[in-house]
Amino acid sequence: MAEIKIKGVEKRFASFTALHSIDLTVKDQEFLVLLGASGCGKTTLLRLIAGLDFATEGEIQIGGKRVNELPPRSREIAMVFQNYAVFPHLTVFDNIGFGLRMKKMPSDQIRQKVTKAAEMMHIEQLLERYSGQLSGGQRQRVAVARALAMEPEVLLMDEPLSNLDALLRMEMRAELKGVLQESKTTTIYVTHDQVEAMSMADRIAVMHGGHIIQAASPISVYRDPASRFVGGFIGNPPMNFLPAKRSNGHWTAAGVAFDGPSVDKETIEFAIRPEDLDPSDTGLSGRVRVVEPLGAHQLVTMDVDGHLFRAVLESDLPIGSGETITLAPKPDRIRWFDPDSENALQ
Ligand code: ATP
Repeated sequence: MAEIKIKGVEKRFASFTALHSIDLTVKDQEFLVLLGASGCGKTTLLRLIAGLDFATEGEIQIGGKRVNELPPRSREIAMVFQNYAVFPHLTVFDNIGFGLRMKKMPSDQIRQKVTKAAEMMHIEQLLERYSGQLSGGQRQRVAVARALAMEPEVLLMDEPLSNLDALLRMEMRAELKGVLQESKTTTIYVTHDQVEAMSMADRIAVMHGGHIIQAASPISVYRDPASRFVGGFIGNPPMNFLPAKRSNGHWTAAGVAFDGPSVDKETIEFAIRPEDLDPSDTGLSGRVRVVEPLGAHQLVTMDVDGHLFRAVLESDLPIGSGETITLAPKPDRIRWFDPDSENALQ
């Protein structure tokens, strides 16, 4: 059982606060992704959990036990970092078995665990090869296999696929997900790549400026962003936003009346995803600036009431730049945000 509990954790570097009062529970065997832009504090949080640095405030528990004062080797964790240190002068076998040998495990057990981990990562045919003779993708697999061979309760990964090319990244993403489901470890995975986060995570914790803004399933983060920041960060392209003014019991955005939340404000923000717009006779109208064919869809960038607005539409709709088109937002996909706090409104 390796639930991870982070309670009121704060990290300060001199006068700079990198993490503000973080509360997060990662359930046993859960795959949690820490997602956020560069500098938001993902690596700092992972390093605190790993024991590579210490929290200024708060408590970290692994498996119900406070670990704040424990060194990394006593925390039942394994780590894979971006600059995976695979030793080129050792064979793949010796690289994967490195941690087990440090633990002074008998050699027959090492062989068994190394073989199993290598099979999981499909590199069993490379065991005798020197790691210096491997491709980047193969070395990456060795690094993951070495972590898996330890059969850790907790696996911490920091951008482990970032050195791979796009195609290999996509392949490894799916493979890693399968392997980690099988291995039953509790995993925390750091990335700034939202596609990786959406496709791999049981739950995504979106970070911004040293805070966790939302921790929820990928589909909830996409459909029901807790704040304007999350709506603008998740999704490619991100959510569209328009100011909406109160008028006669409705909210009017770009001249169109919508039913919205009852709040004591004169202006709030209307939001809709580019995927949730349909061509229609009535709705939001705007002049098309650019049409980008993407194969399965076309991305239309337009100007709606002076605001940049994007729509993902079917490829075969004949739309040209300079035209004026009208799009109807799917009513159940419209979201609203408070312009002051930026939080979602019900
Ligand atoms: P990236 O994706 O670029 O790795 P990140 O989200 O992992 O970003 P962190 O490395 O956690 O970000 O850094 C968070 C903030 O803390 C940054 O502003 C960084 O400059 C600062 N920081 C990290 N380590 C230190 C340190 N040792 N001393 C001072 N500031 C630090």
